[in-house]
Amino acid sequence: MGEDIRLLQTAASALNFSAGPADGLWGPKTRAGLQALRDAHQGRWGDPVLQIGRALIDLGYLAEGPLSRVWTPELDRALGALIAADGLPRSGAVIEVAPQPPGPVLRPGHGNQLFQGRAGHLVQLFVIHTAATPTGWVRGRSNAELFAEIRRWHLANGWRDIGYHGVIFPDGEILEGRAWGEIGAHVVGHNAGSLGYSMVPIRTITRMGAPEDFYTDATLSAMRGVIARACVRTPITRIAGHNEFAAKLCPGFLVRPEDWAPAGWA
Ligand SMILES: [Zn+2]
Repeated sequence: MGEDIRLLQTAASALNFSAGPADGLWGPKTRAGLQALRDAHQGRWGDPVLQIGRALIDLGYLAEGPLSRVWTPELDRALGALIAADGLPRSGAVIEVAPQPPGPVLRPGHGNQLFQGRAGHLVQLFVIHTAATPTGWVRGRSNAELFAEIRRWHLANGWRDIGYHGVIFPDGEILEGRAWGEIGAHVVGHNAGSLGYSMVPIRTITRMGAPEDFYTDATLSAMRGVIARACVRTPITRIAGHNEFAAKLCPGFLVRPEDWAPAGWA
């Protein structure tokens, strides 16, 4: 427990909020620092946010699940509950993501089928992601270098390769990740039988917005191209955002399938 409080203290400090010395002890300074962070989290992003999520899971305030580098409503509520309980670990129900209704079913009109993994999962789901990288992250670096960095983050999770089937950059370039016939690591509980592509934003995502708020037109049309290819290759019946499956902002907007499906599929 002290270790989790220490994680919160160092994360707050990394985000420029003073929560007292990183001593793992809950006191007025820690409480005030975390409260100030919670009140003004806009724009806070990155590994410290990941660390806060980890600590809130360990303390029992957040359900075990994929963690995000951006501030989510669930993280916000969980931190609020911890502050209200004065840093004590929680017993009882944890904060879960509200389930969202499934999107409309698309009607593929061909017999092509793509299967993944040894068990042969039919691919029917396409998931849109964000790389959740901050404003300016892309500056001065090639897409290949950026791709390599995302891949390193994923390897650091203990994964054998980048989790996505591809990453789409602000100039519209698509760098392919895992082969389509391989099960990815991009959406917990739905990896088997899905394709996941991630878009690199040009602005830090701190709230839900519209696709144009965070991505270039080149990125968005490249994503539509990938989805059209996928729809030809296999009967995709659902095009969704990561946030329909997890407590995340990813990809930063609500995915309306009709905005993404190729003509004739809606
Ligand atoms: Zn995602």
